[in-house]
Amino acid sequence: MDKAKIDYVKSKVRNIPDFPIKGIQFKDLTTAFKDPECLNIIVDAIYEYYKDKGITKVAGIESRGFICGAALAVKLGAGFVPIRKPGKLPADTISVDFRKEYGTDTIEMHKDAIGPDDVVLIHDDLLATGGTMLGALDLVNQLNPKAVYVNFICGLDDLGGRDLFPGELDLTTVFDF
Ligand code: AMP
Repeated sequence: MDKAKIDYVKSKVRNIPDFPIKGIQFKDLTTAFKDPECLNIIVDAIYEYYKDKGITKVAGIESRGFICGAALAVKLGAGFVPIRKPGKLPADTISVDFRKEYGTDTIEMHKDAIGPDDVVLIHDDLLATGGTMLGALDLVNQLNPKAVYVNFICGLDDLGGRDLFPGELDLTTVFDF
């Protein structure tokens, strides 16, 4: 993807100091999502990398992973699977607890969301400490898909989240801060 286009998207990300708690530099992607050109660049950049990987399901993490996750699923000709906060999914679920940059949390997915023939792309907006995605990866792997890929729109390099993941995992970000 064209560096100028990626730099344009980066320039649209708003930094909010001390949100939601003191010391966190919150990267607000809503300012990029509301710009049609930016949204298109983000979805296209991710699509270009995954279009030939045989993805059958995009699993988006609540809630910011739903935004481009659903758009990607449509473009890739894949289904969309929500990974949600506890108590939101109506049928039988599997769940996992994880640590995040500010606190601990739990995520859930429907037991029948993914099967052994699926090639899954797990998508979220941002890689901070990596705890959320590590939990999501554990959740998806419990259902034994054929292959798993991981993507974020944005990575925060200083937090070292990437180091939590196995070296052989195919993990991409569109850009990093
Ligand atoms: P983590 O588990 O620490 O990688 O946190 C990732 C999740 O929390 C993502 O879904 C982000 O939406 C959100 N998040 C954590 N830290 C930040 C941050 N500094 N700026 C924006 N979003 C964040």
